[in-house]
Amino acid sequence: MIHACIDLTVAPEEAARAAREETPENEPLVIPGTYMGNTSADAQLSATILTGKKWKNGRTLKIAFSPAFPSVVLEKVKQRFRLVESFVNLKFVFVADWGSAEIRVANDLGEGSWSYVGTDNLTIDAPKATMNFGWLEPKTADAEYDRTVIHEAFHMLGMPHEHQHPKNGIPWDKPAVYRYYQGPPNNWTKAQVDHNLFKKYSETVTQFTEFDRESIMLYPIPNELTIGDYWVGRNTKPSQRDIAFLAEQYPKPVAPTKPAPIGPKSMSRFDFARAPIASLTQELVLTFNKMPFGRFLPGGKG
Ligand SMILES: [Zn+2]
Repeated sequence: MIHACIDLTVAPEEAARAAREETPENEPLVIPGTYMGNTSADAQLSATILTGKKWKNGRTLKIAFSPAFPSVVLEKVKQRFRLVESFVNLKFVFVADWGSAEIRVANDLGEGSWSYVGTDNLTIDAPKATMNFGWLEPKTADAEYDRTVIHEAFHMLGMPHEHQHPKNGIPWDKPAVYRYYQGPPNNWTKAQVDHNLFKKYSETVTQFTEFDRESIMLYPIPNELTIGDYWVGRNTKPSQRDIAFLAEQYPKPVAPTKPAPIGPKSMSRFDFARAPIASLTQELVLTFNKMPFGRFLPGGKG
């Protein structure tokens, strides 16, 4: 059974305004709604994506969690946010004040798991949540926490779904896909299936690399939803390309060159994708302890 993340969008004009105010890097390549002279709904989607939804590099994101989170769930979620933070040059500060946070995370069970994408989050007024975890409970398996929290946090950073990549090459069996997602637990309408699964991003978006079958931004694709022998399992870890993409979008300041350290080779960014989460977090804790500055200071009681 696939619990699928719901793709959320906001009005193109508002999205473009918030994106442009955040950083000039989001300056649109085309005017929203008039992509290549075409004003269809598809073209408008292309235009909003082209606008870019990146956060200003180096900025702090204030993240608040709903009091509905059981503490064990909250700890697991925060741990994965810290992992995601380590991939980029942004600071995540967990705050207690819901209203002042740019990212407001709810734990409304049965309401699906979703997040707004990048600077679209700025268009959502408090008290509304900008992210929800609809199936994370104390008994949920750790791998499902990885798959869900890292995926939603990547949306928060501006990443779209990988199966909507213009060159995805997925041989969908469309009637089977409609039947599957229109049933429980997703209960989508036909339009939602079109929007969440079949709508692709424009090929003119240059920041995308090749389609990545290992991306955590890909839904699982069972063989019975495709023609021929094609399937994708549950990608519960970020892929090397996911991590490389984020590092490229949010580059860290270049450290001054020093002589190579003596001793065991430290983990590269790319090793993160291959390592199990437990060893990743251990590695991160070690890194935090070694850091001279309070980069990961939690804010408030959050
Ligand atoms: Zn998603």
